[in-house]
Amino acid sequence: MGSVSRSRALQLPLPFEEVPLWDATTLADALARESGRRVDLTLTENRSVLVSFRRKGSGVSLRLHRMFLHAPAPVVRALARSLRRTKGCADSEVRRFLNENLHRVRKLPRALPPLVTAGAFYDLRRVFDGLNGRFFHGSLKVPLTWGRGGGRARRGGLTFGSYDPVLGLIRIHPVLDRREVPIYFLESVVYHEMLHHHLGGIPDRAGRTVYHSRVFREAESRYPLQREALAWEKENLKTLLEASQELDRRRRAGSRRSRRALAAP
Ligand SMILES: [Zn+2]
Repeated sequence: MGSVSRSRALQLPLPFEEVPLWDATTLADALARESGRRVDLTLTENRSVLVSFRRKGSGVSLRLHRMFLHAPAPVVRALARSLRRTKGCADSEVRRFLNENLHRVRKLPRALPPLVTAGAFYDLRRVFDGLNGRFFHGSLKVPLTWGRGGGRARRGGLTFGSYDPVLGLIRIHPVLDRREVPIYFLESVVYHEMLHHHLGGIPDRAGRTVYHSRVFREAESRYPLQREALAWEKENLKTLLEASQELDRRRRAGSRRSRRALAAP
């Protein structure tokens, strides 16, 4: 994408740059024609449910993400086929279209939170730049920040890092910003999230998006201290959980203090 289309995309409320193939009426008409049913169509910008429908007598009440205004005719025909069937689930053609266009849903502008990379002990920016140079020829441009912590513990563990594909943002758990955490452990966490940005999801045969694919795991194992990092995590998980609970307590106490300060005359 060139810089011209990028700035234009920022001005448009819609994430699409091309001219749509349909409008709401022509799309509804095409779906009605192909499915042989009356179609009551609502276009949405819902990011999690892109297609849903309910049968009402001989007709169908259909909710579609606006991306379908850009759906080529074979995709619309495939969608109509699934409206015709009694048991509805999207055709593989429709799934492919959805997967290929997820980036459009994600391009909807949403503001980044303030980015904090300088920590008490580690500077995330330097960690990121080092990994970027070593593994990606310096080509990745991904905003990253220390998170606020307070993430839910998962299976007795902690979510040390996350990648938000909507914002294109990497967040790292602040519990890793301490002297006791070896640099290779922090690096392995940041590298994992960089790979999520770099590789994205890959649709499997059933059309589901797989993030930790074989390709992903292969790339992950290129980090030379990956095994050491996993072993360190296992050994230190309990300490890290306690440290993160302590961070949560301090954060909550801090926000109570600032609320009191605001309430004071
Ligand atoms: Zn992951």
